[in-house]
Amino acid sequence: MGFLESITEKARPPELEEFERVMVIQPHPDDTEIAIGGTIARLSENSEVIYVTVTDGSLGSRDPSITREELTIIRRKEQESAARILGVKRLFWLGFEDGGNYDYIDVRRRLVQLIREYKPQLVLTVDPTLRYEFHPDHIKTGRAASEAVLFYQFPRFENQEIFDIERSVLDIGYFFTSKPNQFVCIDDYRKRKISAIKEHKSQMGEGLDLLLWYLEEKEREQGKRIGCEYAESLRIMPTFALHAFVEGEFI
Ligand code: ZN
Repeated sequence: MGFLESITEKARPPELEEFERVMVIQPHPDDTEIAIGGTIARLSENSEVIYVTVTDGSLGSRDPSITREELTIIRRKEQESAARILGVKRLFWLGFEDGGNYDYIDVRRRLVQLIREYKPQLVLTVDPTLRYEFHPDHIKTGRAASEAVLFYQFPRFENQEIFDIERSVLDIGYFFTSKPNQFVCIDDYRKRKISAIKEHKSQMGEGLDLLLWYLEEKEREQGKRIGCEYAESLRIMPTFALHAFVEGEFI
């Protein structure tokens, strides 16, 4: 076995079903359903899945008659319905302004607190290194989540009072990634994924048909890699690979 193969072997995540608690950190309501809704439905059967939505989603409409406050309420309800379909029971809202001028350091602080409190073994979030991603909420969320996973375990980070921090996070998994290393069969969960996506009614305008076509084609293509009809993709990395580890990008 070559050097890189050995490293990939050591970095291989456990079976998804083995994670007891999973924290999904998404920039906006709907990101998770679109990217990995089937994976979430599958995970929820054996694991407790917690959603953390970083922004209030208040920018996501072209309708000039709707206020940010109204849209925030609508999108929260839509996300709650979608999460229910996928079996997610606990949702947290950080309430940062969608597309706003907030500092990702403040997001990171909130995420460190949540990780310390809920002790997930797997954190799922958007890939902040996606080359042509220009939505600042996605870049800030993925970065804040990655840094939170790196730093939460150090007692002197953010809170001098906490010294009995339990190390919990084994892996971080990125969605909306162009470098996936795991494919998840969603044949038994795809119907629920599509229903959950459709709960985001405020987001489903004329682009819905195109989105559904894109997802079906992509999932079918990915399914071929693991002998399934449909599969979603993730880039899962062990936490040890998140800092000063040159081979990280080859895992
Ligand atoms: Zn988004």
